[in-house]
Amino acid sequence: MGRHAQPRASMAIPRIFHSAPLASHQPLVLPQAAARHAGGALRLRPGDALVLFDGTGGEYPARVLRTGKREMVVTLDGHRAVERESPLPVTLAQGIAGAERMDFAVQKSSELGVVAIQPLACLRSPPLGAERATKKTEHWQRVAISACEQCGRNRIPGVPPVLPLRRWLTTLPPTAAGEQRWVLLPEGGQALKHLPPPNRLLLLVGPEGGFAPEEAMDITAAGFRPVALGPRILRTETAGIAALGAIQALWGDL
Ligand code: SAH
Repeated sequence: MGRHAQPRASMAIPRIFHSAPLASHQPLVLPQAAARHAGGALRLRPGDALVLFDGTGGEYPARVLRTGKREMVVTLDGHRAVERESPLPVTLAQGIAGAERMDFAVQKSSELGVVAIQPLACLRSPPLGAERATKKTEHWQRVAISACEQCGRNRIPGVPPVLPLRRWLTTLPPTAAGEQRWVLLPEGGQALKHLPPPNRLLLLVGPEGGFAPEEAMDITAAGFRPVALGPRILRTETAGIAALGAIQALWGDL
């Protein structure tokens, strides 16, 4: 295990999120969607090993007991108290971009350990009605869950409801001690490596078209420090991922 305190997730054993609380040493009928996924894409058969987790911490090694047409019964062993969380909690506040870019940002930032992803409707975001915004939020939450199944995290990054950027800024509490707020801005920002080490970080990334000037003013007024990622303009999803990778390498667990 080297310097890593927690075991790395095994690539070979499928991991499935279960939204209701789990308990050790019990047979469990998997909900239909999970059973279909486990029996279909994952090809799990009686006797096969899997790992279940419910997002409240740790995981449960399990084994398939029976498979039916639409159901699967598994038996849980003991609880294993492993986490694969970064010591640096980062929340990604992401200006909403086009569908594939957003899915990419949610998936990759979950892999890189963010504790939450706040989708923000910016002036230059594609328009999104209230109903679609709710559907989208549910979809992004599912993307975050699959990323955790795949990468070994037992804690799911939350995806709160979409908020307009400037309304969201007014909901932020005063900055806590050791907390940093950084906004990625291609012009006028400092390089990451010259910034003070954060204990907790709120990282704001603009949509495809960037922030409107009036948004940028409100953002800096809310205590966000401008951060630049070198001389090249990155796509919004690249910018967030690149920053998260560098931040985890400098102050987290990469
Ligand atoms: N023409 C836009 C570019 C937007 S790129 C502009 O000038 O703002 C989309 C988002 O990615 C930006 O809002 C910013 O948050 C981030 N970004 C892209 N390249 C960056 C860089 N080199 N440094 C800092 N942030 C960057």
